[in-house]
Amino acid sequence: MTFTPVRRRLQLPAILCFSIFLAFDTSSKATIRYEISLARPEQHLFHVTMTIPEVKGEVTVQMPAWNALYQIRDFSTHVRQLEASAGTQIEPVEKLDKQTWRIQGQGTIEVRYATYWDETGPFAAQLNSEHAFINPALILMYVPARRLEDVSVAMADVPYDWRVVSAAGFASAEYGRSRSVLSQSPNYDALADAPIEVGRFDEFQLPGIAPEIRVVVHGDNWKKKQVEEDLKRICHYELKLLNGAPFEHYLFILHIGKGAGGGGMEHANSTAISVSSEEYLPGVAAHEFFHLWNVKRIRPASLEPVDYTKEQYTRALWFAEGVTSTYASLTLVRSGIWTKDQFYADLGEQISELENRPANRWQSAEQSSLDAWSEKYPLYNQPEYSVSYYSKGQVLGDLLDILIRDRANNDKSLDDVLRALNSDFARSGKFYRDSADILRTVDKIAGAPFEEFFRKYVAGTDPFPYQQVLAFAGLDLRIAETRRPTLGFLTEHDLDGSLVARTVDPEGLAAQAGLRIGDVIINWNGGEAPRRIERWLREQKPGDLLKLRVRREDHQLALEFKLGEIKAVLYAVSEISHPSKEARRIRDGLLHGTTGAALMP
Ligand SMILES: [Zn+2]
Repeated sequence: MTFTPVRRRLQLPAILCFSIFLAFDTSSKATIRYEISLARPEQHLFHVTMTIPEVKGEVTVQMPAWNALYQIRDFSTHVRQLEASAGTQIEPVEKLDKQTWRIQGQGTIEVRYATYWDETGPFAAQLNSEHAFINPALILMYVPARRLEDVSVAMADVPYDWRVVSAAGFASAEYGRSRSVLSQSPNYDALADAPIEVGRFDEFQLPGIAPEIRVVVHGDNWKKKQVEEDLKRICHYELKLLNGAPFEHYLFILHIGKGAGGGGMEHANSTAISVSSEEYLPGVAAHEFFHLWNVKRIRPASLEPVDYTKEQYTRALWFAEGVTSTYASLTLVRSGIWTKDQFYADLGEQISELENRPANRWQSAEQSSLDAWSEKYPLYNQPEYSVSYYSKGQVLGDLLDILIRDRANNDKSLDDVLRALNSDFARSGKFYRDSADILRTVDKIAGAPFEEFFRKYVAGTDPFPYQQVLAFAGLDLRIAETRRPTLGFLTEHDLDGSLVARTVDPEGLAAQAGLRIGDVIINWNGGEAPRRIERWLREQKPGDLLKLRVRREDHQLALEFKLGEIKAVLYAVSEISHPSKEARRIRDGLLHGTTGAALMP
């Protein structure tokens, strides 16, 4: 498609203002058309009309069971009253399974349904009187046999002062019954990969960066100068690291402020990020922008082609997600957003998070990737059941960088591995074979075999050789014991928003005080339960009193108990005061992204 660098804005009073990335010929035929009506947004219902031409006898439509998050979320459960017609004739619809419908008919078939969404965050969809945010795969069905055909989306009944933006580009058009905003995508997967924001957002372009990177912000109380400066540094560094942009235009959709939170979601030419304050933005943005390469284009074969109907297993998330986190922290320190002490503190925290999980002794980085689909269950996320491929992968990335530098006399680094994967796979239009092609590339770049490292620490669960590897970079790992408070139970929000005790440790003080699984917590120390219980817990001490009022069946109970105590080990990374010249070079290389023999002044 053609990229139009000049931004066009229509300023006619009766027409919406549009952000236009792309100019396209609206007369070109889109095989399957969607119209999404935003009428009465306060009802949280997207009214969808899907028009499927050239149906011969019957057509099957399907709603994805998952998208973006590696979690089965069954978007079909949000759908109500699906109907189909051809012209004025109502066509018979038969439901085949939880997410599939078969429609009998001939010619052009119209499928109509409503779908309810009012969830915040980059993985969700939301329609309310403030704005709409849409991950298209959550609300739009596809025809399984025709997923590769081009599609168009029209947003209809858009409130008069709302604008529409997405990486797919929206332009105005007369479409059907009402004036709407239209976009085209080459296929359903591309459409699914371009989230849409509709509302009264702020919008600006990152200065001094080409190709164009635009930022739209829906939020309150955020500091534009800070957001712009941080994003500029991050994008500038990562574009330089990987030899230029793999996109023609890029879009940050940011939700900032009270009630926001939930991190970010990467897409091929955009990202959606939700943070409670701009101070949390750099960490998320550095991660999501790096995904442009790592996972979106340097992509494991195990994730292709996407199967929306069921779990798609991959052993590569330790690299696709974990090493993306390695690069988020490297980007922050190398672009000057973090000091080196912040970088060391973050690495120490990741090691602490990993080593304080008993499951680290038996769950490998690859297995943690494979089990990503279990993360929707609170028990699975407990330290005895799993490790995170984010923290395990991030630490593996730093260890790999130091080891490659050590083997290659600091002439090569993990940066070269990423650049090689970018040229051998992303730019060559190939997908890589989970850990196998990463190992091959590391071997090639380092000029030394890493098979043992991958066998022991990626596929296996040998304890990481922290001290030995960090010493190559003139770094030391110090260990201190500490005590942390523990609740003795886990909570989850029900669909109606109530907070429910989901898991109760039978030996904990909460269980001894009478708390049971299924109890609904209605009062927490005399007030509302904290929004982030983990964060609240970090500010408490073992032995502090917790008073709960809970609802069980038709009566209420007052429970009172002390917070329990667990031992934790804190790991802290620090510099060795008189490292060898080789170690200094590697440390400088890690912090500044440099290779070669020169020492930083
Ligand atoms: Zn990620």
